[in-house]
Amino acid sequence: MASSNPAAHSIDPANNSIPHPSDPQERYPSVLKLYKDVRPHLEAAGCLATQGLPKPSLSNDIHHLFQKSRWVTASVDNFEEVYERMTPALQLASRFITSEAAILPYWPHVLFGKRVQVHENDENLDYLEISSNELCPEAVDRVREAFSGLSENISLAFMEENPTNTSLEGLCGATFRERERSVETTGIPFSEDAWPPVENGKPHPTITLNAHYHEFFASRYSNATRRKRLRVLFCFAVTLIHETVHAFCFSTHPTWKEEPWYNKESISSAGHRQEMGFAWERFMFGGRTDAWYPMEKLRALHYQEVRDLPPVKEDTLMVDGKEAKFLGSYQPASAQGKRFVHDCIPLEWIASWFSDERWALWEQNGEYKEIGKRLRVVVDMWETETRAYIAEVDSKIGESLFDS
Ligand SMILES: [Zn+2]
Repeated sequence: MASSNPAAHSIDPANNSIPHPSDPQERYPSVLKLYKDVRPHLEAAGCLATQGLPKPSLSNDIHHLFQKSRWVTASVDNFEEVYERMTPALQLASRFITSEAAILPYWPHVLFGKRVQVHENDENLDYLEISSNELCPEAVDRVREAFSGLSENISLAFMEENPTNTSLEGLCGATFRERERSVETTGIPFSEDAWPPVENGKPHPTITLNAHYHEFFASRYSNATRRKRLRVLFCFAVTLIHETVHAFCFSTHPTWKEEPWYNKESISSAGHRQEMGFAWERFMFGGRTDAWYPMEKLRALHYQEVRDLPPVKEDTLMVDGKEAKFLGSYQPASAQGKRFVHDCIPLEWIASWFSDERWALWEQNGEYKEIGKRLRVVVDMWETETRAYIAEVDSKIGESLFDS
């Protein structure tokens, strides 16, 4: 659920749900006011283009895990139409869990990593250490078998909109250990007959998706621009896999009461950025790709990182070795002592994920599609003012956002 630190992401032991960071409206009003100033720069950076964007053209099958038979459809209007519209996202999600290039090394570590406990910051914290099993040549096959097993027992559902439980509003998705356990949070009625078939004696995780995804595919899709469709499809696929990570953990490690951190680095001072699902996003894209956060208001999908502010205000801000442009001072500040770093993603890069050719390059030649030049917006929130800077960065995708 909502947290004072958007980077924090914890498991709520009360209902086994995996809460996600919440709506930015309250958290980032100052950021939203930047819209007018940032917009021309977003246009120049290719984040708002509509012309020339290719249609999704993936030709791969949808993995059994995401196929029609795994969805709870009783309360979904026009499910056939919704399914057809979300098909490119389901194909992309399938690619993420079938392509060897996308499986290694992330998934074998989740499956075979050795759970270790350390005492840090007055807490006992668990993380996964690399084990010899995850480095074996058969590791990819074992992961594929685990996905296959999960696909016999997974349920997928859209959350119900619930005015009395607005905490769901901010969740892109939430995953539950058992089907019955999801009802009190999601409002999706459970009934053995209306839900997908499962095997006895196995964990039956349920992935639930934000009601707005359904609303988009059911009602808003027809009138949406291609860029909007691409961004929602991309975010939907990312949400699906983020949640699949949690379902995978429930399925393959039923004795885990709580997930460990992905690795030891995740519990370091760098912050809790490597919660299992976020660790996958970072592995795949180099950072978090937030669908409904402030830059959504700026109509540009972005990577986001939150850091502590330097101890004193700086006259100039250096980004990638160059002085960033000071965009302005905005008031009032809504969060104190935090620096928000947003890398705005060119639409062409998003579109490329829906292309067979792009995947072929990666799978055959290891040629990762680098994101290239992009706009970085840095927002410093001091107690009395919010200061914004922009810069063009050209560093590699991956660690760049976190280490600059
Ligand atoms: Zn998560």
